[in-house]
Amino acid sequence: MKISVIGTGYVGLVVGTCLADMGNDVVCVDVNEEKIKLLKEGGIPIYEPGLKDLLDRNREEERIKFTTDIKSAVENSKAVFIAVGTPPGKNHEADLTFVKEVAASIGKYMKDYLVVVDKSTVPVGTADSVKEAIRNNQEKPIEFDMVSNPEFLREGEAVGDFTYPDRVVIGTESEKAKEIMKNIYRGIIRADRPIIFTDIKSAETIKYASNAMLATRISFMNEIAQLCEKAGADVKMVAKGMGFDQRIGPRFLQAGVGYGGSCFPKDVKALYETMKSYGVNGLVLEAVERVNHEQKRSLLPKLKEFVSELSGKKIAVWGLAFKPKTDDMREAPSLVLIEQLQKEGADVTAFDPEAEKTAGKLVNNVEFTKTPYDALKDVDALVIVTEWNEFRELDKEKMKSLMKSPNIVDGRNVYEPKDMKEAGFNYVGVGRGV
Ligand code: NAD
Repeated sequence: MKISVIGTGYVGLVVGTCLADMGNDVVCVDVNEEKIKLLKEGGIPIYEPGLKDLLDRNREEERIKFTTDIKSAVENSKAVFIAVGTPPGKNHEADLTFVKEVAASIGKYMKDYLVVVDKSTVPVGTADSVKEAIRNNQEKPIEFDMVSNPEFLREGEAVGDFTYPDRVVIGTESEKAKEIMKNIYRGIIRADRPIIFTDIKSAETIKYASNAMLATRISFMNEIAQLCEKAGADVKMVAKGMGFDQRIGPRFLQAGVGYGGSCFPKDVKALYETMKSYGVNGLVLEAVERVNHEQKRSLLPKLKEFVSELSGKKIAVWGLAFKPKTDDMREAPSLVLIEQLQKEGADVTAFDPEAEKTAGKLVNNVEFTKTPYDALKDVDALVIVTEWNEFRELDKEKMKSLMKSPNIVDGRNVYEPKDMKEAGFNYVGVGRGV
């Protein structure tokens, strides 16, 4: 099947590569010329485990190509996936400018029947306006069908999530489009993963509701963690005890420094705005966002318990990306902490295995180091913000000998309080009140 994927970002590149690997003939389109040049020359613009090898294989076998020419891509495709960004608008609503731009181009350049697949995360009802934008830009009427096919991949696990998903959601009212989508996803059907067919508006809603539910679990556990700290309980034990309840399950019950990334923060706010526009109160989402806002700011007071005056002090930050196994810095909690530290007059050294380059564009006056140990030299405290696996088994004696004062604020509960205290650290985690 000839497919174009418009927007070659974290989602578009993974989707394009994986669809190519399933045997489709894929063209990835982007307006970013530098990105397309890099991809044409054999490079890769993002860090995502396993993606480079898969991309190289499919590039070599010419199942995937890259272009800035949306016209030729649309003219030669049977299905066009829209995978452009839907960033927050002025009032936190999803900004659909890029989606509408692509819709206009599709209308302008399509020559034959097309399936237009919306993969970007968009508010319920968007497919109708995309349809209208396509129609308004057609010179003469050409038949096409809309499909809402939201993406659920997690950065850091994106290749596995796309090729072996919990489910694929396909919202369409057209039998013809349904058959084409089944053909595109035949690799996933062969792997026996569930494909859920719905109407378009339900598919659009499933995506936001899923992200909002996950964000709700995070904020809920972070609030439980606050209680644990004050009342003398241990949130890790609480999560374990809750997770064995099959109605609850163990995942997404970890307390931490709050959620970040390109999805949860913007999607929670956008869903809230959509609800308001339909006269729904959105009380749960309002609280989810408020708790997250506070949680991102909860590390500084803990640090000040150890280092009351931060001015002129040297603080190490381990982990910058919004989560491990990605270089994505969008809405990363580390950005909030670094801003707070610098406002207090502290000097920041930082280590992240993959995000130095992306972080470097967003922060100033931070000294990046090549190893986690290097970041610890002469620091008054260490704050752990992202739980990269390599932080788990480091030499505690070496860590202590490098630090000026052995203070650790662990925003991800990477370590056990008892072990750290025995090793001679002043240590505080999240929700570990015992
Ligand atoms: P991104 O910012 O990484 O990539 C978007 C790309 O679209 C950019 O490369 C940009 O240059 C390109 N673009 C913008 N306008 C364009 C146009 N008119 N024509 C061609 N290209 C254009 O964004 P992303 O993280 O890949 O997210 C894309 C969508 O997928 C969003 O709606 C997001 O909410 C959703 N989503 C993201 C994730 C994730 O983990 N990142 C997961 C699921 C869903």
